[in-house]
Amino acid sequence: MLDNAQPVFNLDFSGYIGAMTDIQEQELAKLAIEELTRKKDEFFTIASHELKTPITTMKASLQILQRMADQEQIPVQTLPFITKANKQAIKLTGIVNDLLDINKIQFGRLELNNSMYEFNESLQECIGEIKLQYPEAEIKVKDNLQLVVWADRVRIEQVILNLIINALKYSPEDQEVQIVLEKEDTRFKCSIKDKGIGIPPEKQAYIFYRFFRVHENSQYYPGLGMGLYICSEIIRQHRGEIGVISEEGKGCTFWFTLPDFIRVV
Ligand code: ADP
Repeated sequence: MLDNAQPVFNLDFSGYIGAMTDIQEQELAKLAIEELTRKKDEFFTIASHELKTPITTMKASLQILQRMADQEQIPVQTLPFITKANKQAIKLTGIVNDLLDINKIQFGRLELNNSMYEFNESLQECIGEIKLQYPEAEIKVKDNLQLVVWADRVRIEQVILNLIINALKYSPEDQEVQIVLEKEDTRFKCSIKDKGIGIPPEKQAYIFYRFFRVHENSQYYPGLGMGLYICSEIIRQHRGEIGVISEEGKGCTFWFTLPDFIRVV
């Protein structure tokens, strides 16, 4: 029962006026939703772990096939198919890792492994990695800010890679991405700018929500809406902030800040 009451005063206290509402059904529905959510999360965890083993075996077999094709033990004509299968296996690994990360976040188990490292060096490594996947990408870094940060290098690289890949993915006409590093009072800010399709203003507030996608059913922009949610959680755990500035049709600037850094130059 939900009990609501207010005292009534006519010069003197003259009693209470109130309502008692039967909320049994709402409460039962709430419990049922909680139970379903728990079961769904549990299913995600088990399914993601179960998927990992066959993918690892598949990747190992593909590696053996690749070596055999390189040494001409099997027809070299098979190479393009092996490369294609390898690319899909890498994509699948990415999806499974994202699902596992989401689970870690849900259960508060996304732990950071911080160290001091040179931000620019790690940024250049990320750019190099992206260049292998997107040779046509033009990624420019605008800065002369040499920084040493106290952060989880692997996790921050995951954020950078995600933001740059999104910048390229949602910019079909223009593969130019600009990265700006700035010092803002006591924090340091990294912005990733693209000249792509942008995000409508009414959708910007939801962009870091789990599974949110602007073009939900688009075949042209495939995805699952997990990346930005994971990025925002990683940055939040570093006590930083993350955001976006965008004009529809003109592009996006995704930015994040980190509080723990030392400026070298
Ligand atoms: P995914 O790209 O797999 O859908 P994300 O969580 O990385 O998942 O992104 C969520 C949504 O935000 C995307 O579906 C897309 O609608 C929008 N988005 C992300 N980055 C950009 C960008 N650089 N330009 C335009 N839209 C973007």
